[in-house]
Parts: sequence; structure tokens; C-alpha cells
Amino acid sequence: MTTLFKNGTVFTPRGFEKRDVFVSDGKVFVNSLSSLNIDRADRIVDCTDKVIVPGFTDVHVHLREPGFFYKETIATGTAAAARGGYTCICPMPNLNPVPSTMEALQVQLDIIKENAKVKVVPYGTITMEQNGRSALADMEELAPHVCAFSDDGKGVQTGDLMESAMERAKKLNKLIVAHCEDESLLDGGYIHEGTYAEEHGHKGICSESEWKQVERDVKLSEKTGAGYHVCHISTKETVDIIRCAKEKGIDVTCETGPHYLVLSDADLQEDGRFKMNPPLRDAKDRDALIRGIQDGTIDMIATDHAPHSAEEKAKGLAGSAFGIVGLETSFPILYTHLVKKGIISLEKLIELMSVNPRRRFGLAGGTIEDGQPADLTVIDLAEHHTIDPAEFASMGKATPFAGWEVDGRITMTLVEGEIRYEETTA
Ligand SMILES: [Zn+2]
Repeated sequence: MTTLFKNGTVFTPRGFEKRDVFVSDGKVFVNSLSSLNIDRADRIVDCTDKVIVPGFTDVHVHLREPGFFYKETIATGTAAAARGGYTCICPMPNLNPVPSTMEALQVQLDIIKENAKVKVVPYGTITMEQNGRSALADMEELAPHVCAFSDDGKGVQTGDLMESAMERAKKLNKLIVAHCEDESLLDGGYIHEGTYAEEHGHKGICSESEWKQVERDVKLSEKTGAGYHVCHISTKETVDIIRCAKEKGIDVTCETGPHYLVLSDADLQEDGRFKMNPPLRDAKDRDALIRGIQDGTIDMIATDHAPHSAEEKAKGLAGSAFGIVGLETSFPILYTHLVKKGIISLEKLIELMSVNPRRRFGLAGGTIEDGQPADLTVIDLAEHHTIDPAEFASMGKATPFAGWEVDGRITMTLVEGEIRYEETTA
């Protein structure tokens, strides 16, 4: 099967260029087209009004399988990824069985092999059974099969344990990917400790619960030399700590989520679809995150796609489970609210969603060049639509962006040349 994408605006290593893209044998060709039989392609797709970018990579998703398939499965979560333009995703290990041993990880790898619609490279845990407090996982055994090590969902509660984890990860040449949350500072909170919580009588989560652990870990990364990546940063203090660490040359990177860049606690409603961990912070935090994106302190955007059942999300801010879905809304939300408003360029957004995550995590692909795997996303930037969770491929429907009017729609996603999503036009 060969496909010719004609006359698209293509994201090449030199930036956007008007080009034809030819896909053959799962590989992409853009430069050597004159020597190929492109006019005899099995299919020709007119891309005159479309952009073609390297498929997005999300280093932070929850696929819920094995263990919690009533929330999401590897089949539905990867279908959602393809629909959102993602060709590679990295699922977090808060599963059952917990992938802290090879035996447990194998259960997940078998389902991935059977059902995944995009590339899936899972995490192994940092601590055994992800308990955050005692023994480390079988990191040596897991290393060849995982993208990195993370206890996401929980923080590693002691510095000593994190230091040993970093020493082992460094030897294995893998990143430690940290959900930073000091449990001793939580005190039953569930939204940001700020104006909204105060005015509406909710229990708050302080910013310190996040940045205290980041501060601890940055020092440990400096001491051990281990590569360290911080999950879903949400506070202005965290941005400052990471900016300083980078200036000192420490091997630190981080991600934030679309919701932290577009919303703040001023947008909260008494509805579970506004509840996630970390919580939406205040406008000063959001603005600091935007500056962090602009100046390169924040390396990538990850969705923290965290589906739950409708029932689990129907219990308001206090009672609902933490987590919102994100794979199917991230591009249009960020394109509409960051690119179209002139906050960042489209090139920058593609770097944040495609190029940087792959580079930092050592994942394949990431460029549209001759002979590279054809992991591609085709986008119609002009297509205006309303976000409707009923259309999601994900089993999770809880999103704060329901009903938002956006521009930019994914029209096709290819993984190694195979179409894994195509928009059906009525
Ligand atoms: Zn997390």
C-alpha cells in the first residue's frame, strides 16, 4: 500500500514547507520523490488545506488495563490517541497487576501486542507495588521493556528511596519520571488551596505539596547525575525551580498539561469534570506555566489522560475521582488558545507535542524525512467544531472542555504507514 499526500504544509526538520509526502512500506519520503513512482500511488490524498506533522507523542496517559477496564481499555485508549493525532503513548503503571516485576509487566505487554492501535511504550514503577515508601521495583529486569520509571499517581515519599532509585536508573540509562506530591501536606484537599476553595468551602491542596518534592529531587538529580523528568507541573514555584536547575546544567525536564495552560481555579465549576491531580491552580500559576512554555523551561505537553466511569465522576468536586480525559482535545484546545492567540507558534506546539517528548524519552521517529517511520498526523487547521464528549473514542467522557468551540481537527493518523484514524466526513 502506497499513499501520496499531495500539496500539504509539512513540518520538516527545517520548519513548515509546502511538499508532497509519499508513504511506502511504512516509511515516509519527501525529498527523493522524483526517483519514486509517486503517480502510481494506491491512494492520493489532497492535502492542499492541510498540515502534516510528525505524529504526537504523549508521555503521560492512563490506559487502565490491566485491572480497571471498566474505565478504559488499551483498545479504547489507543483509539482515542489515534483520534487525537497521537502515534505513540506511554501509559502509567497504576494498574493491577502493578508493573513492578517482569511477570506483572508481561500481562500489560501481551494486551498491548493484541489490541493497541498506536505505539505504546509503558512505564515500570519506581517502587515495588508502587507503595512509594519501601523497596524498589525490579528495575534491571524491567528496563529493556519500559520507556522510563514512574510511580505516577503517587509521589516517592522519602529522599533516600528516591536517591537509590536515581542511582539505579542512571546505571540503566533510564529517566526517573516523578509525580511530585508530598502526602504529609495533603490534609484531605482535593482542589487548589486558593480563592475558589475558600469561597465555596472546599478543602485545598497547597502548592508546596508539589514543589517541595521537585526541589528535593532536583538536588538528588544533581548529586546522582540521573536524568529526571517532572510530571504535570502546575505551580509557579515549580517552574522557577526547574528554570534554575536547567541554568545549573542539571539533567532535568518537565511537562505540563493543556488544562493547566488554559484554565485556572477561577474557571472551576461544581462538577467532577473539573477535578484532577494536581488541581487547577490560580491565574498567576497558569501565567508562569505559559512563560515556562515560551522560554523552554517546560519541554513538552502531556495530557495526563485519566479516564474514569461516569459514576466515579458524578460526585462533584469533593467526591469524584481525580482525573480528566485529554487525548482527543489537546491539539484543538492548544491550537485555539495558544497558537491562534499568538502566545506560541505552531512550530513550537509541534515541538512540544511531537519532537521533544520523543527526543527526551528516546522513542523512535519524530521527523518527516526520507526513510523515517511514517508516523504522521494530518490536520485541518480551519475546521471549526464544538467539543462533544459523546464523540470520544475514549470510554472516559469527563473533560472541562465540553462544549468549547475550537479550531483544528485531526483528519488522519498513520502509524508506520497504516491509517489508524480517519475522519469520516458526512
Ligand atoms: Zn500524576
